[in-house]
Amino acid sequence: MDENIISVKNLTKQYQTAQASGIRDINFDIKRGEVVAIIGESGSGKSTLLKSIFGLLKTDTGEVIFNGKRVLGPDEQLIPGHKEMKMVTQDFSLNIYAKVYDNIASQLSNTNIKSKQEKTVAIMEHLRIDHLRDKKIIELSGGEQQRVAIARAMVTDTQLLLLDEPFSQVDALLKNQLRADIKRIAAETGVTVIMVSHDPADGLFLADVLLLIKEGQLIQKGEPSHVYNHPEHVYTAQLLGNAVVLPMEDALKLGMTSAKGKEVLFYPEWVELKNTWNSKRYEVKDVYYKGFYEELLLERNGVTIRAIHLNRGEHKKNDHVQANIGRFLEF
Ligand code: ADP
Ligand code: MG
Repeated sequence: MDENIISVKNLTKQYQTAQASGIRDINFDIKRGEVVAIIGESGSGKSTLLKSIFGLLKTDTGEVIFNGKRVLGPDEQLIPGHKEMKMVTQDFSLNIYAKVYDNIASQLSNTNIKSKQEKTVAIMEHLRIDHLRDKKIIELSGGEQQRVAIARAMVTDTQLLLLDEPFSQVDALLKNQLRADIKRIAAETGVTVIMVSHDPADGLFLADVLLLIKEGQLIQKGEPSHVYNHPEHVYTAQLLGNAVVLPMEDALKLGMTSAKGKEVLFYPEWVELKNTWNSKRYEVKDVYYKGFYEELLLERNGVTIRAIHLNRGEHKKNDHVQANIGRFLEF
């Protein structure tokens, strides 16, 4: 079997209504079993890309190869979709008056009742919704409905699961759990997952691969930690990590004389609050409590930056501190 489950080649889809919309010339391969997160701001083309992969949209150019075969567009087959590729969208498409069990089991044929029951129970256990089996969908929370939708998509022998904003309905605590579940299920079943999100926290720690989408174009692909630490665009660092971006004239005011280019970028955790030969004096303008750490707003020569500080309560507003921007990137 081919190592790549999906290959996206020169995919372009422009909507006629708007000038800059849809996706443009997107190319990438996904290896079997990978968990992939497509990240980009709202309107960057993530849903368009996912729908194109699934064959829901007629693209202008390019093709998608799934398991060695070209994915047919909506004009080429009556019912879009594939036996082995499933998509879960934000509306879930569940039968809200039917029970959880029936919503899932209905995806399987009746030729082998015992196997149907076993598979349904197994996937409910995998997604930790077995205790909800006799509840109707309308009786469930958004997060629970989401789990049912994923279980329903996975109960058939799904090889590729496409998830559009899978965590949008879920509160922070459940989000963490669902995220971990998706990772675990992918590892246990070998299913390949492509999920889309505008919230980088959703995908960053879960995914094997990140795809960054900006204005319909793929601007970076790589392992999360690599993309985070070596962003090729300012957009990427701002999306992923609350980066500080300074125009060069401000960087020079902070004494970053070795910097070149138009802009300087660093994450708040790259700022070292210690006295080294290179440190500069900053005034603490504000201290933001963040739980186990603080974010300090620091100012020098009229330029403000942010820094992470773990030793809470050490610095107060109007204090002076020595800080060194230990690492920075130039654009
Ligand atoms: P995302 O999922 O990243 O928020 P979408 O793929 O939904 O982005 O949309 C990308 C761009 O294409 C947006 O500018 C959006 O307004 C436009 N767009 C999406 N669907 C349509 C459509 N059916 N007709 C016209 N423009 C569309
Ligand atoms: Mg979308």
